[in-house]
Amino acid sequence: MRRVLGFFAVAVIVAFAAVWLATLKGHFALEIGGWQIHMSAGLFVGVTTLFAVLVIILARILGFVLGAPQALGRWWQLRRQRRGEDALSQGLIAAATGELLEVQPWSNRVRSTLTASPLGLLLRAQAASLARDAAAEEAAYQAMLNHAQTEFLGLKGLFGLALAQDDSQKALALGLRAYALKPRATWPVQALFDLRTARGEWDEARALLDDADKTRLMAADVLRRRRAVLLAVQALEAEAAAPKKSLDLALQALDLEPGLLGAATLAARRLVYGGKDRRAQEVIERTWSEAPHPDLAVAYAAIFPRDTTPERSARLLSLARLFPRHFESCVLEAEQHVAMNRWSDARRVLSPWAQGNISARICMLFAEIEERQHHDSVSAHDWLRRAVQAPRDNEFRCTRCGSGSANWHALCSHCKGFDTLSWIAPKTPAPAAPDAGALALPATAALPAPDDPGSKGSAFDDLTHGHIPRS
Ligand SMILES: [Zn+2]
Repeated sequence: MRRVLGFFAVAVIVAFAAVWLATLKGHFALEIGGWQIHMSAGLFVGVTTLFAVLVIILARILGFVLGAPQALGRWWQLRRQRRGEDALSQGLIAAATGELLEVQPWSNRVRSTLTASPLGLLLRAQAASLARDAAAEEAAYQAMLNHAQTEFLGLKGLFGLALAQDDSQKALALGLRAYALKPRATWPVQALFDLRTARGEWDEARALLDDADKTRLMAADVLRRRRAVLLAVQALEAEAAAPKKSLDLALQALDLEPGLLGAATLAARRLVYGGKDRRAQEVIERTWSEAPHPDLAVAYAAIFPRDTTPERSARLLSLARLFPRHFESCVLEAEQHVAMNRWSDARRVLSPWAQGNISARICMLFAEIEERQHHDSVSAHDWLRRAVQAPRDNEFRCTRCGSGSANWHALCSHCKGFDTLSWIAPKTPAPAAPDAGALALPATAALPAPDDPGSKGSAFDDLTHGHIPRS
């Protein structure tokens, strides 16, 4: 509709112009050499206008012809870029799904079409990584360093390659460069912290934590735990050369993390050495309340070396009761009952743990009870056999690589993971310990029935089938 109206408008204007030109009065005369040109004023205006229009059209045609090569080049470049971007998208998708056979052709096409694309370098690095071509991967990451957009990514890639090649010095330099480039990014701080701790550079690791604290890059509880572990490991390293400093560091660590085993045993040891038995006792009790561990019981008993067996047993029982129902507390309590020949009490404490995958230490205690109470070496041997087959329950296990360790260390000796060792004692909460007379043991079909007439009728024995020690 608009076009029709526009057409009519132009037609009306042209008609008016034609009428105006036809009725225009005047005469145009031009003499050049022997040539004379005469025409009416209207015709002159018409011819002049037509001439101007022709000049404009010719100029346009000439400009198009002269600019055709550049226009063709731009069109060709645009088409090439579109094909490259399409190949880049397809390649990145293939890389994300790990399709090596698809990634390589797309990467080659991107390389030939988008020669200066930073993302093309990323695709090249990913293709090389999938093909396990470390040299090509490193070359791609190195090329990324020349682009501001991909420099950080290139440093991260090179850092990973350096770690894979076990070149911690090179990794450290790359990590520091990445940290200087983006000090508020999470990755460089975490990567440098892991590297510093793996290299035993505790002061530098603590400085990183201070920086992370200022920039709020780590959660408060993570910072506190890491600081505590760093203090503990520094305390342990300083104990021989600077015992006072070692004690100070250990107590600082415990202020941050009261359940830190290494710091607690060290502090107790140094405090006892300094004649501060009461303070050592408090340290162990506080740590036991947070995280019971057999080493704490050993350290606790060592505070009072002249105790008689009943005195030591009573002291350790009081320690165990600081965290009732914890597996280590139950084991410690049962051990004290066994030491004092209180068989029923020992069984009452152990019974909640005599189900399912019974811990090796529980089996060992049952074996001791059988042997000492009933002199039943057959049943005791059976429990010992079960202890051998039971899963290990008295070691630290690395949560990263699964390696075991008898003692606590800040670093896993296998994978160098920081604070990855975790005590693997059974975590299942024990059911509420009932009284011995009303003990309700869970069904333990694998456990043989007791043959002790004295125990007949007790709830404990009703639920056992012979291999559970008898009252
Ligand atoms: Zn490990």
